[in-house]
Amino acid sequence: MLKGKTALVTGSTSGIGLGIAIELAKQGANIVMNGFGDVEGPKAQIAALGVKVEYHGADMSKPAEIEAMMNFADEKFGGIDVLVNNAGIQFVSNIEDFPTERWDAIIAINLSSAFHTTRLAVPYMRKQNWGRIINVASAHGLVASAGKTAYVAAKHGIVGLTKSVALETATTGVTANAICPGWVLTPLVQKQIDDRAAREKITVEQATKELLQEKEPSLQFTTPEQLGGMAVFFCSPAADNVRGQAWASDGGWTAQ
Ligand code: NAD
Repeated sequence: MLKGKTALVTGSTSGIGLGIAIELAKQGANIVMNGFGDVEGPKAQIAALGVKVEYHGADMSKPAEIEAMMNFADEKFGGIDVLVNNAGIQFVSNIEDFPTERWDAIIAINLSSAFHTTRLAVPYMRKQNWGRIINVASAHGLVASAGKTAYVAAKHGIVGLTKSVALETATTGVTANAICPGWVLTPLVQKQIDDRAAREKITVEQATKELLQEKEPSLQFTTPEQLGGMAVFFCSPAADNVRGQAWASDGGWTAQ
């Protein structure tokens, strides 16, 4: 379905971003990867699907580096057809103790980076009258939790950004939608589980159970593959008129 198209997935060296990149590659899309940590392993995993893969290590908190990444993608593939804004970080603390530099970093990486990639990707998408912007928000883009002020603000912000971009492109073949996962067992969440286990002096297994019980009625994690499947749907002709939506895969979290 996406043969000959190019998808740029921010934060695709790990977790959900990698899962989405793999599912888009299975549909034939060439991939521009981004993110920190091990690059060669995930890159080989995607390349094994028979598509072209390029990597750019832009730091999503730095607008100039984001611009360089977008130019790099244009040079390599001629333009981005599918933009997945996925890179994100978390920090948990009550607001009075929240380090201001953590606030700035979360807003920059989880929200402002999507503004920069989108403003730079939309002209090409408009020109060819087809494009998909998929923002990885969160259940925390729809409801809040204590201790996550920056994350909740950024995720609500990206849902708003998604809606605005969807309206601006509503008469074109460009769509913008958000994916709102509940818990997904990635390094970002494993850290929260490990912190909980240490804080409450319980096993990691018990902490995992508690984490799910607290928010997620299904008591199950969503997988990166399932979220990749949702991204593939947003790219399909069936989703041509799905615009400005924030779709949850959260085991019932936000239905409560
Ligand atoms: P992860 O830690 O496995 O992956 C995060 C990715 O972002 C990595 O590739 C990392 O290198 C990259 N990244 C971090 N900071 C970056 C920066 N400054 N510049 C470029 N890349 C950077 O986490 P994940 O759980 O896969 O999270 C991916 C997205 O999904 C995030 O936006 C997160 O908020 C969102 N999300 C996660 C969950 C969950 O339960 N794991 C739930 C809802 C939403």
